Amino acid sequence: MNTACFAAWIEEIARTVHAEKDRLTRLDAAIGDADHGANLDRGFTAVSRVLAAKQPETTGAMLTMVGSTLIRNVGGASGPLYGMAFRQMGRVLGDTPDVSIAQLCTALEAGLAGIQKLGAATEGDKTLVDALAPAIQALAQSVQDGVKPEEAISAAAAAALAGAEATIPMLAHKGRASYLGPRSVGHEDPGAASTALIFAALHAVTTR
Ligand code: ADP
Ligand code: MG
Ligand code: MG
Repeated sequence: MNTACFAAWIEEIARTVHAEKDRLTRLDAAIGDADHGANLDRGFTAVSRVLAAKQPETTGAMLTMVGSTLIRNVGGASGPLYGMAFRQMGRVLGDTPDVSIAQLCTALEAGLAGIQKLGAATEGDKTLVDALAPAIQALAQSVQDGVKPEEAISAAAAAALAGAEATIPMLAHKGRASYLGPRSVGHEDPGAASTALIFAALHAVTTR
């Protein structure tokens, strides 16, 4: 994946987040404060604007820009968390011109570590970690198995989606949803749903 490929991924995230804004907000209305769709749409609209003005020259600079722009523009828990993840990915990629699936996987692992350092959520806490962690596991497994990049990304996208759906019966232990206690059960976590969108966007651009 080169900078053009990362730019296409980011634009596709912005497009799908905008298209799915209301669904994300509805999910957040059930167990949060009904702003997740608006938060991410504001963030990725800002990212698109920055990207249109001047495309960063390296893959690392591109993802660092995404992270910093999200931190600046998204209020709420998801801004700093996603922002941290993209910034960590950017730091790991640096000036790598053509990012392999193995390198993408390493970068995503650093992103997840950053999210967990900041938010202290582990799998099962009903957060975006429940979509991100299995997606990365699927990607790592694919790298180990030596499957084609498209198949690896397809497996990661499927795992993220399954991970998001698996948050429905969970009891929230982190974020706003945790204030609801047992009433958080029976609803999909909005952040896990947006993480699934981010991987679906990656799948969409790699199969174009
Ligand atoms: P806020 O809850 O501040 O309104 P958002 O609605 O944008 O922020 O984002 C909510 C999402 O953030 C949750 O659905 C969850 O996935 C994620 N989240 C919240 N707290 C944490 C945390 N400590 N660790 C990981 N993810 C978290
Ligand atoms: Mg919210
Ligand atoms: Mg909020």
